[in-house]
Amino acid sequence: MSELHELLCRNFSWADKIKSRSPDFFKNLSERHRPKYLWIGCSDSRTAPDRLLDLPSEQIFVHRNIANMVHSDDASCMSVIQYAVDQLKVDHIVVCGHSHCGGVRAVLEEQTSGPIDQWLKPLSVLKTSIAGKLKQASLNERSVTLAELNVVKQVTNVCKSATVQTAWEMGEKLSVHGWIFDVSTGILKDLLGDITSARSAAAVKEQYF
Ligand SMILES: [Zn+2]
Repeated sequence: MSELHELLCRNFSWADKIKSRSPDFFKNLSERHRPKYLWIGCSDSRTAPDRLLDLPSEQIFVHRNIANMVHSDDASCMSVIQYAVDQLKVDHIVVCGHSHCGGVRAVLEEQTSGPIDQWLKPLSVLKTSIAGKLKQASLNERSVTLAELNVVKQVTNVCKSATVQTAWEMGEKLSVHGWIFDVSTGILKDLLGDITSARSAAAVKEQYF
């Protein structure tokens, strides 16, 4: 028997439990996909958004990768943003980083190689740009500082995407947010407030970079 048989059993009893409580649940789920939020987060298994937000997963459209990066030449991420904004009409895009991030720590300790090294190149550049600020701090403090600044940087990348720029030009209600999750306390922190226009996005860029 497959080692993963237990997972299939768990799925069966999960579906069964829901259907016994709400017989039309999956029928309704199959007929509607209208999440209000796009979440761009880290792949870290401790940071699943539906768990942190205590929301049903169908309310959050999700894109996750190592260190919650938004590269303008990443067709996967750009497609997710396009689909979320143009088709699903989400109201909010949240970029969320977190403490104790393996990607951030790897960059700080210069332990990246292979595809990860390539993927995290912009994070290395960011680290170099704040080298003075990071010098005296402990590894934990440095990783929080870099993770927070990385969130701000990725928020600016979301804001300058063609999809978001066009949505704002068309007067659509769309706001972008930068948050950080503290794995050691379970608490999310809002770093930037609501960014609701190209002008407010430019102000963030001006303030940080
Ligand atoms: Zn991470």
